[in-house]
Amino acid sequence: MRALLILIALLTAIPAQAQRLIALTFDDVPRSPGAWYSPDERTRRIVAALDEGGVRGAAFFVNPGSLARPEGAGGEARIAAYVRAGHVIANHGFSHLAASKTPAAAYIADIDRADAWLRGRPGFRPWYRFPYLDEGQGDKVKRDAIRAALAARRLANGYVTADGVDWHIEQRTIDAVTAGKVLDIEGLRALYVETQADAADVYDALAVRATGRSPVQVMLMHETDLAARFLPDLIAEMKRRGWRFVSADAAFADPIAAQAATVDVPSAQGTLVEAVAWARGLPAPRWYRGNDTALLDTWYDARVLKEGPVP
Ligand SMILES: [Zn+2]
Repeated sequence: MRALLILIALLTAIPAQAQRLIALTFDDVPRSPGAWYSPDERTRRIVAALDEGGVRGAAFFVNPGSLARPEGAGGEARIAAYVRAGHVIANHGFSHLAASKTPAAAYIADIDRADAWLRGRPGFRPWYRFPYLDEGQGDKVKRDAIRAALAARRLANGYVTADGVDWHIEQRTIDAVTAGKVLDIEGLRALYVETQADAADVYDALAVRATGRSPVQVMLMHETDLAARFLPDLIAEMKRRGWRFVSADAAFADPIAAQAATVDVPSAQGTLVEAVAWARGLPAPRWYRGNDTALLDTWYDARVLKEGPVP
């Protein structure tokens, strides 16, 4: 009995450090088609999976410049469909530029061009998600110029705390289907679910080590066919691991958000948890090992490609 009471006391003490709350965010909307679905079908499936999984207020980060491309046809209606389903939209730049490769003035003009398209639309939130999570890398003058521009526009950094590099698994899948390879769909489902959920676990543990608390996590995902197909499995697995889903509004209200505008590390790129851990002197690696695409490729080759890697 006494052991049981001690166990109960320990269990009730855990949530203060490990609250395990997470918001889902989807980048590059409207994204190029994936391996299986039309863009309309992809949106219907993502909306249905979020609805059935009880995920409210997910964020979709938009590149309005993609609407003018052939694959962007119908994109405006799909963006409206996400908003009608109770989700929100925010700025991912007009043309998805890399801050480290673009002069500051041109970069900021691209943010403004996206802002002009987004602001005033239903579901708009004043958040900016850096493409490639590239905030200027080692160029602190540029980093600070962009930070100042965001502040002047009252745009908050729509940072990420957890990243499972889903875009790479999506690209591998598109390449494999295009090449006519036979995929192990159950292996792909398991790999996608595992890498996303493991990323959330690893970045949460890193945040606790770096800051002493578990922030509300912000998961980076993309508008992919993988999400359209496997989101129900991922949501179920995350719940099984004790995660609860919250809105992006709730996530960006977390105290860690203040760090996004001020954290100072030698290279401004990546998740906010990585940056905070780096700034506080935690040793490398400060990221989920599956973010190494060469390692991820070996997992993909072994678990998804039935006939092994391309010779
Ligand atoms: Zn992007």
